[in-house]
Amino acid sequence: MAPEPDGLFPLDDVLPPRKAAAGGASFRDSPAAARLLDVRTVYAEPAAAASPRGREILARFPAAEVVEVPSHWRIPGLHGNEGNAARWVRVKTRTLVLGVKKTLTVRPNGRSADWIAPGASNGCAMACAYCYVPRRKGYANPVTTFTNIDRIVGRIARHVAEQGRKPEPNQCDPLAWVYDVGENGDCSVDALICDNTADLVSAFGRWPTAKASFATKFVNPDLLRLDPRGRTRVRFSLMPPEDSRLLDVRTSPVAERIAAAGDFLEAGYEVHFNLSPVVVRPGWQDAWGELFRHLDDVLPAAVKAQAAAEVIMLTHNAGLHEVNLGWHPRAEELLWRPALQEPKRSQNGDLNVRYRAAEKAASVRRLLALAAEHAPWLRVRYAF
Ligand code: SF4
Repeated sequence: MAPEPDGLFPLDDVLPPRKAAAGGASFRDSPAAARLLDVRTVYAEPAAAASPRGREILARFPAAEVVEVPSHWRIPGLHGNEGNAARWVRVKTRTLVLGVKKTLTVRPNGRSADWIAPGASNGCAMACAYCYVPRRKGYANPVTTFTNIDRIVGRIARHVAEQGRKPEPNQCDPLAWVYDVGENGDCSVDALICDNTADLVSAFGRWPTAKASFATKFVNPDLLRLDPRGRTRVRFSLMPPEDSRLLDVRTSPVAERIAAAGDFLEAGYEVHFNLSPVVVRPGWQDAWGELFRHLDDVLPAAVKAQAAAEVIMLTHNAGLHEVNLGWHPRAEELLWRPALQEPKRSQNGDLNVRYRAAEKAASVRRLLALAAEHAPWLRVRYAF
């Protein structure tokens, strides 16, 4: 394995005892949360810093140095740094960007969700080796929090109102229009910073025709204090723990995500699973079989009764492969498999690679068969 830069690997001890979530101090103020996010510098657009949400955030980090920037986008000296993972992790831990989201677009999706909502953040404090989020800003892409959450929620509210009732069921949801609210980050980590995630959960709780949805790899007990009223779908991302320990850098361990499912359901969330990315490597079928058996063994019946899953085979990227070779070559032994993969030029010109069509189809069939055998209660919404 490559040298492990300080604080780089999974936060096995980041979670407090689970009872602590029910009352007392917020998890986000705990020393455990500070291991993931310990903000020392805030780069802020002046309008973002002056906004009510911006002022709340700055008050949470009173010791942080505030650096004014004209734009949250591509801040010189902050974004980029493709080659120095130790530095990205320090940047992701200690730096926060505050911006005002200018373009509030709701985009159709149809796969994971009906719609992609304008996100309340961009960037992540975690650092998964396959993550696509940093590509446009550079790999040291810390969380940018958008402070105009009122306008973001207002834009989604108008869109929800325009749609009216969902005319017919689809695989996203039988009744509700589903909006992905966390396309470019992780809402559970965003909730360590401010109430943007809480505001989204609360807003969707008031809209009977819509549902929020976000994928997460971080268990944030503070989310259990919210009142989602069944209108927010949390999708815990899962993969075999041995793959996750190598690839899901700085995330909550897979077993913690699974163990949290019952608590999130009890708190009023819908709980689904993202089986992603599925990485084909020697022994992958046994590892996924084991994971499905574990789910079957430990999940409460109530979670199983409402659970569904998305299956997403790995897509990798030539540029990211080069970057990862510099800091985490063992991850590339799993991710970069030219004999199994073929190139695909993405819409923005990036050179992505995905499993060859025949290999991918066979792997999807095998994974679905493993799920059907070991976790027959798990409805797979789609697989690609
Ligand atoms: S948790 Fe999601 S957004 Fe964050 S680094 Fe991992 S894949 Fe990227």
